[in-house]
Amino acid sequence: MTFNELNIAEPVLRALGEKGYETPTPIQEQAIPVLMAGRDIFGIARTGTGKTAAFAIPIILKLMEERAREAENAARAEAEGAAQAQPAPEEGKPAREGDTAAEQADAAAGTDTAAGTDAAALTDAAAGTALPRSHSRRRGRRHGKPARQRVIRALVLTPTRELALQISDCFTDYSKYTDLKHTAVFGGVKQRSQVEKLRSGVDILIATPGRLLDLMGQGFVKLDSLAFLVLDEADRMLDMGFIADIRRLVSRLPRRRQTMLFSATMPDAIVSLSRSMLHDPERIEVTPQASTVEEVWQRVYFVENADKKELLVSLLRERPDDSVLVFARTKHGADSISKSLRRAGIRNDAIHGDKSQGERQRALDEFKSGKVKVLVATDIAARGIDIQELQVVINYDIPDVPETYVHRIGRTGRAGHEGTALTFCTFDEHMIVNEIQRLTGRRIESVLYDSYYD
Ligand code: AMP
Repeated sequence: MTFNELNIAEPVLRALGEKGYETPTPIQEQAIPVLMAGRDIFGIARTGTGKTAAFAIPIILKLMEERAREAENAARAEAEGAAQAQPAPEEGKPAREGDTAAEQADAAAGTDTAAGTDAAALTDAAAGTALPRSHSRRRGRRHGKPARQRVIRALVLTPTRELALQISDCFTDYSKYTDLKHTAVFGGVKQRSQVEKLRSGVDILIATPGRLLDLMGQGFVKLDSLAFLVLDEADRMLDMGFIADIRRLVSRLPRRRQTMLFSATMPDAIVSLSRSMLHDPERIEVTPQASTVEEVWQRVYFVENADKKELLVSLLRERPDDSVLVFARTKHGADSISKSLRRAGIRNDAIHGDKSQGERQRALDEFKSGKVKVLVATDIAARGIDIQELQVVINYDIPDVPETYVHRIGRTGRAGHEGTALTFCTFDEHMIVNEIQRLTGRRIESVLYDSYYD
């Protein structure tokens, strides 16, 4: 199956080509046609399956169709109005047909209408003119039809700021040859620039629940025209205590809408949420692309708590060129590991919920670019972090839940790259290793680390 066979419009197809996507992933193959047909979906899929594109592509395609229809209607209405009123031609003003052609040419060249251009001009472009705002306003008034302000048509709710930014980047990439606009809002930063972006008008909003409710309460976000709702990582939103917020939010949304719910696992609360929010959904279940069984080399070190730091330092010294993500159980633990590594001369960063948005983003950028090779993170902070070439995951603390182990090590060994997962396990935690082996159906090699005999 190719993206061509999924009937994807050329501007999006071109953007996907530039991202290097050749074939749709299983969730994209299954979800895109269902979503294009207007159905709701309940997707059981975790990060790494390509689920973001699975919902982003249909939303972009549908909004593009909608805007093309609107532009056509506006052009028709204006032509009719012009025929009736027969206004005197204004100097230097191209005809409507000419505008549209110019816009199309721009879009084809990937210039003016691409994301990131002036918001006012884009709003006017939506109404079918590429003229500066003052001109179109005048013309709009002349025909009694002000240019339509953009309204939010699609909302993506996601648990963390990192995920919100990551999803926003995907929309930037996939919609770069369309005139659609999107933005992300999340807590932990001042709201001013988010409010300015919202004021300029967006079609797609990506949001964490708390900040969204805040902004709605202040009247900066209106969702009465919403047509598409995505709940991403619903199980994580449940874990983080967002479900009441989400129910409150959803009760305020238009009932006629298309809803997509994605969750890596299916606890009862998510099943009940899906029943109350989805209308006759298609259930789509996929396993992550990175399989722990085939692509990741795994080893467990049985080690005393007191020796873990020393073991970590020696493992990192063995592989100075690899990008290594180190998982810690707690924020305090992450800070303490980070400090000891620094004392041992190993450059690293730590990310967790107590770090500011700026600090987290900087740490992530430096890690992704390879400038910093070691990143220490808690599960929540690392959730959804997408690093293409991550060679090693180290579970400094073994996760309590075997599914979390699978999720953590799925970050390495992606897309055919070789990956390594090393897990530290204290003696009283050995039962967890058994549970992990049962879940993955694979025996994990284990070694005993004893600093005295090393
Ligand atoms: P996600 O599960 O949405 O976080 O996506 C995981 C990773 O897969 C991201 O780096 C995407 O850019 C990448 N990806 C998504 N769809 C495709 C595709 N069809 N071909 C190749 N890579 C993809």
